[in-house]
Amino acid sequence: MSDVEYLRSKLASHADFPKKGIVFLDIFPILRDPIAFETLITHLLHHLTSHTIPSIPSKKIDVVVGLDARGFLLGPVIALRLGAAFVPVRKQGKLPGTCESATYQKEYGSDSFEMQSDAIKPGQSVIVVDDLIATGGSAKAAGELVAKLGGKTAEYLFIIELMFLKGGSKLDAPVYSIIQSD
Ligand code: IMP
Repeated sequence: MSDVEYLRSKLASHADFPKKGIVFLDIFPILRDPIAFETLITHLLHHLTSHTIPSIPSKKIDVVVGLDARGFLLGPVIALRLGAAFVPVRKQGKLPGTCESATYQKEYGSDSFEMQSDAIKPGQSVIVVDDLIATGGSAKAAGELVAKLGGKTAEYLFIIELMFLKGGSKLDAPVYSIIQSD
């Protein structure tokens, strides 16, 4: 079994969560199993360090940005292994100090993400990480925050990509996902 098939087999899916008609894909069974979690992180690190990402020919990644909340579980592990900084993007009102903010559309109404204004230096290369991309709205807002601080998003990284929603087409850099779901 390939590592992609192995990780796919570990996903749980929950019908009608968080509300009727939604099938929620759950990555927590991967994190619960240290072999699966190691497989996940090794796969992502292999991708980041052995594939040439066109916008970072030197392969040097300065900052890993993790999205509230499951991006906080993946981002710091990846950042530590790369020797890069970890920077959180949080829902509005949760971060101290001066922050930049960006608004994104949710199913009903809008929400705002924030990043501390001194978290990224101009010219730094950035990877944005979350568990799953659906419409791409939250990743797009995170990318806007990176750009506001002068960072360059090299790639958006996810465990799962919901292909039918075409979220990647909203983003200013390529998407890499381990598992593509219809
Ligand atoms: P988007 O902004 O529409 O791309 O939604 C992505 C955000 O919603 C991410 O932060 C995901 O964690 C969360 N999300 C949406 N659907 C799911 C799901 O099926 N499983 C886990 N997270 C989800």
